[in-house]
Formats: sequence, C-alpha cells, structure tokens
Amino acid sequence: MTAQEPSYVLKDAPGKGMGMFATRDIKRGECILSEKPLVFATRNFVRTQLAIDAMTEPDKTSFFALHNVHSDVPTAFGIVRTNGLPLGAKAVDCAVYKVMSRINHACAPNVHHTWNSKKKKEDLHAIQDIASGDEILTSYLEPFLVREERMEFLRKNFKFECHCSLCAAPSPEYDLTVKRVKICSDLIMTCASSHPRKSIQFVREVLALLDSIGGEGKTPFYYDGYQICAMYGDYTFAQEWANLLLESYLMDAGEDGDEYERYLRYSKNPRSHERAGCAPRQILS
Ligand SMILES: [Zn+2]
Repeated sequence: MTAQEPSYVLKDAPGKGMGMFATRDIKRGECILSEKPLVFATRNFVRTQLAIDAMTEPDKTSFFALHNVHSDVPTAFGIVRTNGLPLGAKAVDCAVYKVMSRINHACAPNVHHTWNSKKKKEDLHAIQDIASGDEILTSYLEPFLVREERMEFLRKNFKFECHCSLCAAPSPEYDLTVKRVKICSDLIMTCASSHPRKSIQFVREVLALLDSIGGEGKTPFYYDGYQICAMYGDYTFAQEWANLLLESYLMDAGEDGDEYERYLRYSKNPRSHERAGCAPRQILS
C-alpha cells in the first residue's frame, strides 16, 4: 500500500447512515485526511445561498446528499446546520465537506479535526491508535459535559440518542471527573493573576484528570501552564511546558497546523511569549 492511498473508507454504519472506517491500522497523531470544503457558510444567508448556487454540479450533488436533521429548516440551511464544521475553535463561520461531514459521533472520539487556515482545508488527525476496521469517530460536543448534558446537547442539536461506548455504560466516576475538570479549568485563569502557583496546580490536576478519561483535549492546558510561567518569568519551567505544548499540538494538528510555528517559537525561546515577564518574577516549579 502506498502512502497516498486513503487510510479510510466511507460505508454503511449500521443504524447511523454512512460512516468512516479505517482500512489499515492508524497511529496516534497521523493525519487521516486534509479536505477542502464543498462550501463556506456564514450567518449571512444570502451570501451562503450564493455560495451554494455557485458550487459545481458534482459538489452540489455531494452537498445535497448529506444528512439534514433540521427538517423544519429549508434544505440547504438544514444541511449546513447539521454538517457545518467551524473554521477554528471560536469561529462563527463554518464549512461543509464531502467526506469530513460524514464522520459519525462518539462522546470519546478517536480523531480530532482542525481548520488549517494556511491550506484552507480541514485536517483530521488520529488522537488514539485506530485499528483497521474500526469506525473513525469525532465528537460533536462542547467540551466537559456530563452524560445528561451530552444527551441533551445531541438531542437538541443533532436529533439522535447517543449509544456510544461511553453513553451505553454510564459511569458516575467519569461524570465526576468531567465536573472537576470544568471547575479546575475555570480556576486556572481566575487564579493566574494573584495565585500563579495555585493556578499551575490546577493545570496539573486537569492534565491528570484528562489522562484518567482518555487524554483528549490537553493541548490548551499545556498552553496555560506555559503562559503562566512565562508571565511570571520562570523561564526554566516555561521551557518544560512549551516542550509539552509543542509535542501535544503536533499530535492534534501536525507540523502544518496553524499554531505550529508559534508553539515552536515558544519551545525554542520561552521568553518569546507576548506577555513574558509582565508579572513580578516568581519561581513556580
Ligand atoms: Zn455518547
């Protein structure tokens, strides 16, 4: 098999329509797919409709073949609302994809997708080793939701009952862990301005908690650890966090990810953060 051959296939996923499946073993961190959008969508309906009208006929066929869970919304906009992926973590605008939009949901996913603004493509990376034949599953959720909140979110936004492995076997321990992650993550930045040591303790606690539930989503917390140490001028400790940040980001988005150059710069020179040394110097390690 050559490197160019896809490591996935789209086929029937029983009870879920189409789904994406691994055709060979995929290693954690591997880029499975890098895909150009069929269409970009904004909150401006007229502009979005014009973009849909301007698609090529084959792209239109692919677009209108996608699922629409919002039957009360005119078809094209229902398809956008069902399948659109945001152009970045905090973006309002989104894009719809021929393949990427076919990936089914799991509350504990095995892939992570990110918008790459340089390539103008959505990249899909494995966040776990995936065995040949396994379904490739992403998360449609906001972070840190307990089982009932996840169920509610998926019912409201995607009109389905989740039967993923996490939902099929309810775990009060998992929900308690998620609640604690949420509390600690809120406290990290609250404490950063006055109690940076405490803040770093919360970062460490979140990372340990995330490890206990599969390890997904650690990159932003490595960033927090790095940023706090850089702000307080503990550059030895900041160096350690910057290395961990870079390593984690590489697994999420690869060397061509939007933030790679910036995180590489932090790793080479931990003093290069925009707010480095802005607070009275403290050793936080
Ligand atoms: Zn689930």
